[in-house]
Amino acid sequence: MDNGIIKNTFGLKVTAAQLLEYHSEEELIGFIAAGKVKTPYLHVGGGCNLLFMHERYEGTVLHSQIKGMEVTAENDSEVFIRVGAGEVWDDFVDYCVSQGWYGAENLSLIPGEVGASAVQNIGAYGVEVKDLITSVETIDNKGQKRVFQQSECAYAYRDSVFKRPEMKIYFVTYVNFKLSKVVQFKLDYGTIRKELADAPSVTLPLVRQTIIKIRQSKLPDPQVLGNAGSFFTNPIVTREKWQSLLAQYPNMPYYEVDEQHVKIPAGWMIEQAGWKGKALGHAAVYDKQALILVNLGNATGADIVALSEAVCRDVVSQFGIEIHPEVNFIE
Ligand SMILES: Cc1cc2nc3c(=O)[nH]c(=O)nc-3n(C[C@H](O)[C@H](O)[C@H](O)COP(=O)(O)OP(=O)(O)OC[C@H]3O[C@@H](n4cnc5c(N)ncnc54)[C@H](O)[C@@H]3O)c2cc1C
Repeated sequence: MDNGIIKNTFGLKVTAAQLLEYHSEEELIGFIAAGKVKTPYLHVGGGCNLLFMHERYEGTVLHSQIKGMEVTAENDSEVFIRVGAGEVWDDFVDYCVSQGWYGAENLSLIPGEVGASAVQNIGAYGVEVKDLITSVETIDNKGQKRVFQQSECAYAYRDSVFKRPEMKIYFVTYVNFKLSKVVQFKLDYGTIRKELADAPSVTLPLVRQTIIKIRQSKLPDPQVLGNAGSFFTNPIVTREKWQSLLAQYPNMPYYEVDEQHVKIPAGWMIEQAGWKGKALGHAAVYDKQALILVNLGNATGADIVALSEAVCRDVVSQFGIEIHPEVNFIE
């Protein structure tokens, strides 16, 4: 939060009635006890997955600056680490890789902070953060501490219990992770194996560098072109629906989910609907990856919302499938 502007990777200029930044659980509890956390409030991380619909948020914006990465236990094969919600996610991945701990490397370079990673269940290249989380520590809006075990977090694809409206009373303060000390790579996703084909040996730093290289070649840098990563989640459809579409589009890509369901890439449908690279006002569908919406420079939140609605409408009319935003819309 600089000069009253709420950080957000769409590059929208948004202010709030009140900004509260805290550096410890005690400081947060103090704000709550002093009645400073008034409704409505919004807890933000790095603003990498937020779409502010208006130029001012008429409420309190909270942000954690709780730092620290502390090993709480370890044995020959595993290490348990407690990380402050305000740590930058990729700094944590970098730390794990430098320590020789396996598990987080495929999640390299995902923007944002550790607290939000547990809310969003971030994922990339065949790994989701839920695979590493053991528990999530929170303070609620009354100042009470509650620890959620991983099994209580209802993790699913880009989803968790913390995304439910009634759970917005919980502010994540620390996330506890389990990493492996035993070599275990996940390389069968995307082009990782191809990129590593000529490497004499596969090491943790090399896998991290490879993921970073792949991501940098595909994703727009928010400093250059405002965006929030994938704007939509990939819809999961029944096998009957998938088969009827496949008859029409034999080259349609898809991912297996379970015996009854298949996931269809939303970006492919958006491209088929003719939106790739197309602009509406000051917002556009990214020309290299149709799943990403970008701010061409002077877009407002309303411009991006209008574009997303137009894209959704055309996908429904062509494929009969509703696509839903992954990005959090903020009123
Ligand atoms: C270029 C780019 C690439 C991306 N690639 C990926 C990717 O590969 N995979 C992926 O999963 N995501 C990706 N994203 C999305 C984004 O990085 C993640 O959603 C990330 O977790 C957002 O972190 P943040 O700290 O910015 O959270 P914010 O965007 O600020 O907040 C996200 C949500 O978490 C809540 N929240 C944040 N902190 C707390 C807290 N301490 N307590 C309670 N609630 C909180 C917010 O209220 C909001 O609902 C990408 C984004 C960009 C811009």
